[in-house]
Amino acid sequence: MAVLPPDMDSAAFARLLEEFRGAVGADWVWSSEEDLGPYRDSFSPVWNTDEERRASAAVAPADVGEVQAVVRIAHRYKVPLYPISTGKNFGYGGPAPNVTGSVVLDLKRLNRILEVDDKRHFALVEPGVSYFDLYRHIEERGLKVMIDCPDPGWGSPIGNSLDRGVGYTMPFYRDHYGASCGLEVVLPNGELMRTGMGALPGAKTWQEYRYGFGPDPAGLFAQGNFGVVTKMGFRLMPLPEHYRTGLITVPRRRDFVRLVEHVNFLSDSSMCGEPVYGSPLQALLGDPDFAALATKPGGPSDAEMDAAASAAGLPSWQVELQFFGSEATTKANWEYAKDLILSDIPGAQAVDGEHFPLPATEAQLANTSQPYRTAIKRRAALGVPSLGMWRVVRDDGHVGFFPVIPRSGEAVFEAQRVLGDALREFPFRSYFNATTAPLHWHPFTFQMVFAPSVKRNDPAHNEMVNRAMRKVVAVAAEHGWGDYRAAPVYQDDVAATYSFNGHALRRFLEQLKDAIDPDGIIAPGRGGIWPRRFRS
Ligand SMILES: Cc1cc2nc3c(=O)[nH]c(=O)nc-3n(C[C@H](O)[C@H](O)[C@H](O)COP(=O)(O)OP(=O)(O)OC[C@H]3O[C@@H](n4cnc5c(N)ncnc54)[C@H](O)[C@@H]3O)c2cc1C
Repeated sequence: MAVLPPDMDSAAFARLLEEFRGAVGADWVWSSEEDLGPYRDSFSPVWNTDEERRASAAVAPADVGEVQAVVRIAHRYKVPLYPISTGKNFGYGGPAPNVTGSVVLDLKRLNRILEVDDKRHFALVEPGVSYFDLYRHIEERGLKVMIDCPDPGWGSPIGNSLDRGVGYTMPFYRDHYGASCGLEVVLPNGELMRTGMGALPGAKTWQEYRYGFGPDPAGLFAQGNFGVVTKMGFRLMPLPEHYRTGLITVPRRRDFVRLVEHVNFLSDSSMCGEPVYGSPLQALLGDPDFAALATKPGGPSDAEMDAAASAAGLPSWQVELQFFGSEATTKANWEYAKDLILSDIPGAQAVDGEHFPLPATEAQLANTSQPYRTAIKRRAALGVPSLGMWRVVRDDGHVGFFPVIPRSGEAVFEAQRVLGDALREFPFRSYFNATTAPLHWHPFTFQMVFAPSVKRNDPAHNEMVNRAMRKVVAVAAEHGWGDYRAAPVYQDDVAATYSFNGHALRRFLEQLKDAIDPDGIIAPGRGGIWPRRFRS
């Protein structure tokens, strides 16, 4: 099913493609249905329906000059471009655009690692550089820095961070956009701009001081549609000498409140990496009586959950802590964490984990067996990219709702109850129950996870998933929790919940969009920001 750009006939489309070919070479412009297959969202919950967002063409420039040429052509023809870096944003829309008929601007050929400095700890990369590429570059040269990567290593620091993706090492580095420093951007009119110190010709600290002078517009390019990012800097963690893990369990449901407070203290003091929470009671969900208790409308009482834990001889909660540093400091931090928590929570127990020098050996990377251990992802925790997490993908993929909630035990209990009750009418009862643990991806908040699978050949299932997604987005917002990231098909719903003072934020961003890109050349609709041309 061929599609055309909005407001364009096939003769003009043919002329547009000819101009693109002139700019980047005939081999790097695609418009056949077969060639555009990889630019569809293979996880789409609206696959093969009128709602699926499909590209009319894809074009892959080789360098910044060619990107500018493509943007200028698109500007003249008033054709929306959808820039992607490595295009692996599965679960959040894949490589597919917000607006059907957009031309995907595939930046995979801009794949140069421009600089890695292991004395001042940063990298400067182009969009087509994947986490695998950056990791290999560092390994091959024996550089003393560690990357922080998301689970799938085939994504890119630029694409991932521009969707505010996350990793698993120390707090500062896990927030990938937060750990970026300095952008180069092609604006919707084709002009080239650098942010921060990069605006100062010959600057020596572009990747070290992100602000430069005056307002810093860098944030507009994350989950936004104000330009095409062609270079970006990232801070890198100095390669630590040593890594250590330890597990702490607490007996009662309510102990979680104090446990979280202590771990927040450790994390915010930069004493530990990603804390991985879990509940050993999840193992009991196969028992129908326990499952009924854990999913009881309004939530079970603490006493009911404690009785179940004690009958099973299991602790209620656990957290796995990870420490980076020298052998001595990782030991001291773990001993400190044990003292802090065990002296305050009666019945809390600690289990020493593993510890070894970095970089880890293959055997150390593969070993994840521990009592009550959550499926801690050792490779990503040590900044080693892989595709191992692909094994969690069920059916034909999934969509995700990840509400940001406060980092407190009470907030987790409330989210379990509220989201569990909201999903009661759907067959997703296992997601939110009295054993559901939060994720500590971003450094200062928790997130909960709702990631239902989609099935290409089951429209009724997908329609039910869509209803469930829209319901949890709305119910969460009523409780002050907002989604952190969404596929194009849900971006308007999510953006609409950020509605303080009559949608003042959206109105502000749309004013900017109208000023900078009124015809919607760059990703109209991304982040829920529509230019005047498409607003209706
Ligand atoms: C099993 C599984 C596990 C996952 N685990 C994680 C995880 O641990 N952490 C995580 O963050 N994500 C995770 N994801 C989601 C996703 O796979 C990654 O975030 C991935 O890195 C995003 O793809 P990408 O890096 O290729 O970005 P891209 O797809 O290239 O970019 C993402 C979006 O950013 C915008 N964009 C990209 N490049 C540019 C540019 N140069 N200029 C302007 N705008 C641009 C576009 O809108 C694009 O759609 C997971 C997905 C799956 C299926």
